[in-house]
Amino acid sequence: MTSRSAAKTASADGGRARITALTTLPGGRAHESVGTGPSRSALLWGRRRVLLLNATYEPLTAISLRRAIVLVLRERADVVHADDGGLAVHSADMSVPVPSVIRLRSFVKVPYRAVVPLTRAALMHRDRFRCGYCSAKATTIDHVLPRSRGGAHSWENCVACCASCNHRKADRLLSELGWSLRVQPGVPKGRHWRLLATVKEIDPAWAQYIDAGAA
Ligand SMILES: [Zn+2]
Repeated sequence: MTSRSAAKTASADGGRARITALTTLPGGRAHESVGTGPSRSALLWGRRRVLLLNATYEPLTAISLRRAIVLVLRERADVVHADDGGLAVHSADMSVPVPSVIRLRSFVKVPYRAVVPLTRAALMHRDRFRCGYCSAKATTIDHVLPRSRGGAHSWENCVACCASCNHRKADRLLSELGWSLRVQPGVPKGRHWRLLATVKEIDPAWAQYIDAGAA
């Protein structure tokens, strides 16, 4: 699948490989449906992010699908988790499953950066998509001390929050509502959190690798 000639073909191809969907028929037989249209293909190329793991399985960063495919074709990385929907990338003479997680074959040393940027995706992952007040499914972010009352947009002052609690809390303090936090919010530890800051959505397939990196 990833022979040298195939890699050459793919790079000469200039990234014009097509993405098509592999759908499974009731009989369990995989069947390739071609002609999903350029718009869908372009959407996948542009939007999809792939989790890049170090050779040690430590999460490094999220990269574009195009870059991930190039790493796999050049035999620099292997697919460790393919797209659950059975999507595949086709070039002239080969087919690679669309990866959601890839792993480098050689270890790379990464400089440690202390600051973990606060983003919606990373915060949701820290709080496991649960409301900080009632543990229902979180869909919003709440500033514990409201911004209108001087609260900072920081890891220590932000929690994942369900729509209902967010609406009821509005600009009030916990002491005014008689509410309390399930867990005191804090800055997550571990460099893998940096990568979470670079993505909008976290692919569920990444969770096991991200959590392993936290240990
Ligand atoms: Zn809630």
